[in-house]
Amino acid sequence: MTFQNSLEFAQELDTKDPLRKYRDEFHFPKVDGKQVIYFTGNSLGLQPKRTQKFVDDVMTDWKELAVEGHFYSKKPWWDYHEMLAEPLARVVGAKINEVSVMNTLTINLHLLMVSFYRPSGKRYKIICEEKAFPSDQYMFQSQVKFHGYDPSDAIVEVTKRDGEHHWRTEDILKKIEEVGEELALVLIGGVNYYSGQVFDMAAITKAGKAAGAFVGWDLAHAVGNIELKLHDWDADFAAWCSYKYMNSGPGNASGVFINERHLNRKDIPRFEGWWGTKKETRFLMKPEFEPMENADAWQISNPAILSIAPYLASLEMFEEVGMDALIMKRNQIVKYLEFVLEEIDKEVEGTFEIITPKDRGCQLSVFLHGHGRPLFDYLMKNGVITDWREPNVIRLAPAPFYCSYEDMYHFGQILKKGILENAQ
Ligand SMILES: *Cc1c(COP(=O)(O)O)cnc(C)c1O
Repeated sequence: MTFQNSLEFAQELDTKDPLRKYRDEFHFPKVDGKQVIYFTGNSLGLQPKRTQKFVDDVMTDWKELAVEGHFYSKKPWWDYHEMLAEPLARVVGAKINEVSVMNTLTINLHLLMVSFYRPSGKRYKIICEEKAFPSDQYMFQSQVKFHGYDPSDAIVEVTKRDGEHHWRTEDILKKIEEVGEELALVLIGGVNYYSGQVFDMAAITKAGKAAGAFVGWDLAHAVGNIELKLHDWDADFAAWCSYKYMNSGPGNASGVFINERHLNRKDIPRFEGWWGTKKETRFLMKPEFEPMENADAWQISNPAILSIAPYLASLEMFEEVGMDALIMKRNQIVKYLEFVLEEIDKEVEGTFEIITPKDRGCQLSVFLHGHGRPLFDYLMKNGVITDWREPNVIRLAPAPFYCSYEDMYHFGQILKKGILENAQ
């Protein structure tokens, strides 16, 4: 399809968009009384309108039933989290028994490292990407130190080549081979938060396992964004948050994947609590730990129901729409955004550069040559919600659930005006 950078063309794409009715299913913030152009669904997704009811239902049950709500509310709290496993398994390409919802992301990665980072003898190193998300870096450092190793020796970062903005799969595979028998764990962000690069998770997982290591994925920027096949790729474990592309609210519950192969095994250690025990005998309050036979064995506390209620609302929408339709619109709207950026770039003469490689999901990261914070501030003041990463990169994620093609067109016009005004 030949794109045009015009309002009429953008509106025509919107008319043909099978997901267009979902735009009205979300609350948009306003700037100067006007609905914003929202590019930060990769950071905090918008609130679906239906979420309020899911939360209100819990509040009402608590008000009217109090403790009885654990068993007698319409959606009883004692196994509320189980309702999320099936729809979530579809989003991440897993079997239902491999998925659970609990805690928050970094906490879950720590808990999964208890099970899958068990350095011993020669095998103690972790491979990750350079400049991983800060929380992941702190996690690696603290885990390695906890086990008595030196982070500068035990953490092996795969670097990008000089002058390149992305990692090459061949470099990652080579590093895995090099570290070889010293490799205990490969743990990488499936979609890089800074550039939006999508890693070749199938190839990396295969290589890591061939080297005798465990392979896990931080899917914060991947879940609800790209196609995932955790089971088929045979990853050992993964975790993700629910508040980015999954629109489940600030700081909300995290999901985990634990490969079926690791369930019901006594040789895999785990930090345990009462919600990981068999439901049938949980309330007998026995001293022995009898694990659930699915990923719920990793549950520890009774779940934060008010925090998973928005996740259930969001998953209902993912069930209605399906990842295939989301990915189809995502591809098209990102392509259109890229086209609009290229058109504007011609008009303002090479001010910016898209640093996101072609292996990408919803996000384009744009390097603004010679422009700094003033341009970013201009965008925000004019109703374009984007985010800024040092030194001068803006990240643009047109989430397919609620962004429109018309948004992309208007954004281009605002950007052009901002560049011209700021250059003076
Ligand atoms: C967003 C994000 C996190 C956030 O971790 P929390 O524990 O939810 O605060 C972690 N890792 C990556 C890669 C992220 O993008």
